[in-house]
Amino acid sequence: MYRKNRKYLLSTMIGLLFTAQSLQAQDSLYARNVIATLASPAFHGRGYAFKGDSIAADYISKEFGRLNLKSKTSDYFQSYFVSMNVFEQNTRIDFGANYPTTSFSDAMQIAMYSASVKGDFKIVPATDDMLLKTQKTSAFKNKFIAVDMSSDSMDKEVRKEWGRVIRNNLLKAKGYVVLKDKLSPYSPGAGTIKSEHTTVYIVKDSISGNLKKVSVDLDARFIEQYATQNVFGYIEGTRYPDTFFVIGAHYDHLGQAGRDYIFHGANDNAAGVAMMLDLARHYSLPENRPEYSIAFVAFSGEEIGLLGSFYFVDHPLIEMSNIKVMLNLDLVGTGEDGFTFVCGKTFPEEFEKFLFVNEQNGYPQDLVAREAAPNSDHYPFFKKGCKALFIYGMGKSGAYHHPSDTLENLSMGGYTRLVRMIVDYLNLDNSQ
Ligand SMILES: [Zn+2]
Repeated sequence: MYRKNRKYLLSTMIGLLFTAQSLQAQDSLYARNVIATLASPAFHGRGYAFKGDSIAADYISKEFGRLNLKSKTSDYFQSYFVSMNVFEQNTRIDFGANYPTTSFSDAMQIAMYSASVKGDFKIVPATDDMLLKTQKTSAFKNKFIAVDMSSDSMDKEVRKEWGRVIRNNLLKAKGYVVLKDKLSPYSPGAGTIKSEHTTVYIVKDSISGNLKKVSVDLDARFIEQYATQNVFGYIEGTRYPDTFFVIGAHYDHLGQAGRDYIFHGANDNAAGVAMMLDLARHYSLPENRPEYSIAFVAFSGEEIGLLGSFYFVDHPLIEMSNIKVMLNLDLVGTGEDGFTFVCGKTFPEEFEKFLFVNEQNGYPQDLVAREAAPNSDHYPFFKKGCKALFIYGMGKSGAYHHPSDTLENLSMGGYTRLVRMIVDYLNLDNSQ
């Protein structure tokens, strides 16, 4: 029975599949090319090491130019400054035989704020009474302190206290080695504040015995007032040129740690940039000119605290009160299991329009609305009183904030469908 049905289905579906697939191939070919480019080693993970952010901004600005987007600034750039710690050369941390020696791996990470350090250092284990000596000792100035923060060795309050001691170096140590059950997803935000010490996180299970000494060769460079940039272009509406829909996507990612360890950021967020460019491509065709103006903003600084989008709303290139809705695309390279709309519960009338176009197209009923949350670039717009939605896909991808976030590990399962949904949403009668 199964086979019989399958044969029937196959013959009737071939026609449908042909059109669907050729459209999909067309759309995703461009997107795949953009994602592959932005996620390639030449873009250095689109962080601030090796100027990865600037290389990506140049690429996006060239695409905007090719599509003849209008601009408010030269090269479409809106520059602003960040201070950031980067690792561009040596990142060697060596605990001796039988211990993990790859400083950036699934077993070891260096905290983003860490200072340059070179030499051999003794490691002393953390004790409870060290917490009584904070600020008052210089006994550890040439030592690393090993703090076992795994779940069964420390209660929550003490762990919190040690977290504060380590981040602020309240024991004035050369550095800290923190043992954990598993490593958290890498986050560079802490690197915006300069530190004098070095912190190394390792997975407790990856070592045997006590750590006694460490040999370190770490080159860090703290760049003060580094010029990064948002990239802004727009297409003028035929009927309401002064009113804007804003399509935003951050192009920065976690960058590169040392010479070889690259966070490619295919889903986070080369895919969102690809979709933003795809939408710009669609609306730049004369036959698709929109009634309302559509602005396209590629933000930097997202991964270090939404810095680009906060800068944009404080120095807007269009009147904030003229923004009808801001759509933020971040993590859209999946989608075979549906899409989530952060702020969908805050702005139910906009979410319902997506449900409507979804139903019109006979798509699966798998859209989820969430409350507002400060988790991506829609948030600064929301804080300024704009209607803003953050759309992300659900489905198969590489690990979050990990070098395995590559195009090969990305399903692109709902990519074409989401492009369609957004076009249909933008083409609705939005005059009420
Ligand atoms: Zn991210």
